[in-house]
Amino acid sequence: MQLSIDVNGREVLITGSDHAARQAVRRYEAAGAVISRLSTPQGAHHDGPLPERPFLVAAVDDGQPGWEPLLERCRDNGIPVTSEPAAGANGHVTLVGGGPGTAELLTVAAIKALRDADVVFYDRLAPYQELPSLTSAELVDVGKRPGHHPVSQSGIEKLMVEAALDGKNVVRLKGGDPYVFGRGGEEVAACVAAGVPVRVVSGVTSAISVPAAAGIPVTHREVSHMFTVVSGHAPLTEKEHMHLAGLGGTIVVLMGIGTLHQLAAGLRKAGMSPEMPMAVIERGYRPGQRTTIAQLGTIVSAAADCTNPAVLVIGEVVRVGEANRGHAEASADLDRLAASLLGS
Ligand code: SAH
Repeated sequence: MQLSIDVNGREVLITGSDHAARQAVRRYEAAGAVISRLSTPQGAHHDGPLPERPFLVAAVDDGQPGWEPLLERCRDNGIPVTSEPAAGANGHVTLVGGGPGTAELLTVAAIKALRDADVVFYDRLAPYQELPSLTSAELVDVGKRPGHHPVSQSGIEKLMVEAALDGKNVVRLKGGDPYVFGRGGEEVAACVAAGVPVRVVSGVTSAISVPAAAGIPVTHREVSHMFTVVSGHAPLTEKEHMHLAGLGGTIVVLMGIGTLHQLAAGLRKAGMSPEMPMAVIERGYRPGQRTTIAQLGTIVSAAADCTNPAVLVIGEVVRVGEANRGHAEASADLDRLAASLLGS
C-alpha cells in the first residue's frame, strides 16, 4: 500500500546511520519536513517520553540491530513509523532506460534507481520534466538543446565515472531503452574500464511504444510477423534497402527525419510498392503528439514539416492502426490525419 502524507513544516525523526539515511534525509528535506536525526539506536537508550514528539518517524533500514525497541515505543505512543529503504552501496552507476518521455512508462526498477540516486545525468528524450518529483538527486542535463552545447559522449562517460569514484550513486537516465541506439554499451564499457560497478535497467523503447501511441501494432497476425528497427542517422546503403524491402515485414526507423528522402527513394528503387502505407509519429506521449499517414510514394511531401523526435513505420500494420486509431490516439491532430488520408 502507498500513502501520500503532507510533511511540509512537520517534525520528522529520521533514524538510521548517516550513510544509509542520506537519501531519505534529502527526500524529506525536499518535502519541507523539519528533520531531526538519530543515527544509532544507542542514542535513544532512555525509557522516558521521546524528547520532542515527532509527527512521523522515518526508519531507515540500515542493518544495525537495536532499533526495534525504539520504534515499538513510538508506535505505542501513536506516532506513525514508516520504513525507508537504505541508500544503496555507493560508488556505482545504473544506466536507466527512461521510456519514450512520460513518467508513466518508467519501470518500477527505474523509479527505485532514481529515488536512490545521488546524481542523475539525463538526456532530453527521457522524462526529465518529472525528475524533481521522482528524486532528490542532483540533476545534470547532458543532452542537446538549442543554444546549449551538448556534453560529448566521452565527456558524459567521464562525468559518470568520476561521480561514482567520488562515492556517489549515479543514474544515467536515457530515453527509451539504453541499448537501442542509446550508446549504452559504450557507457557500460567505460565504467568497466574504470573498475566502477555498473548495471542496466531496461526501458520501454520508442521503437515499439511510439507506434503504439498512434494505435499501430508493430506485428499483427496475418499482416506482419516480423519487425526490423533501423537507425536513420545516416542514409542506408543500396544493399540495405534491398534487404529491407525483401524482408516483407514492418520497418521501424528511429532518427529518420533527416534521411527520409533517401529512405523512400531507396526502398522504391529496391522494388517496394509506392502504395506501401507509412506513418510518421512525432513527439510520442508528449504534448503535440502528431501522426502523419501517407504512402511510400507520397510520404516525402506529406511529412515535409515533420521534425525530430519522430518514429517512422513502414508496412501494412499502418492500416491496422488506422482502424484502431480513433481509440488509441487521444492527443493526435485528427484534422491533419484526415487531410493526409484524403490526400494520399
Ligand atoms: N534509446 C531510444 C532511442 C534513442 S535514438 C529508444 O529506445 O527509444 C533517438 C530517436 O528515438 C529519436 O530520433 C526518435 O526517432 C526516437 N524517439 C525517442 N523518443 C521518442 C518520442 N517520444 N517520440 C518520437 N520519437 C522518439
